[in-house]
Amino acid sequence: MRSLLLQGLFRRPLTEAPPVPDAADLAALADHLDIAARRRLGRSLSIRHVDAGSCNGCELEVHALNNAFYDLERYGLRFVASPRHADVLFVTGPVTRNMREALERTYNATPSPKWVVAVGDCAADGGLFGGSYAVEGGVSRVIPVDLHITGCPPNPTALLKGLLSLMER
Ligand code: SF4
Repeated sequence: MRSLLLQGLFRRPLTEAPPVPDAADLAALADHLDIAARRRLGRSLSIRHVDAGSCNGCELEVHALNNAFYDLERYGLRFVASPRHADVLFVTGPVTRNMREALERTYNATPSPKWVVAVGDCAADGGLFGGSYAVEGGVSRVIPVDLHITGCPPNPTALLKGLLSLMER
């Protein structure tokens, strides 16, 4: 028992070390994004996340935007609980047949002007699940999409860059 405990304390983790983001690059990107959002919207940018059948890999990256390192709220970007308070819908997953109506209702409940961002390869065209009878095969098959952010999953920096390109259009 004691040796097991010692092994657990001193053994290296079995998982790979996470990639280290460039903090200076990230700060510059987030500042740029904040300025663009204020110019376009005149206030903070509110994002509603919709999981339309994701494997949750994309969710982990989206949620990382709120962690202590990325801490997006300091740049005027925040996630909201209701589509009625949102400017942007972040949609992940290939859109399962069961989620189709919920996604349509969420879109219709979001006031204009609004943007839809399809996050991840699944949201773009079904990704790994493309061709399955259980999925629609991408967000644009259900609602209009303004931006696709590809990757399986896209990392938080890619998500920030995507938001910036959306604001600068
Ligand atoms: S793009 Fe990859 S990580 Fe995201 S939901 Fe699809 S399989 Fe999962």
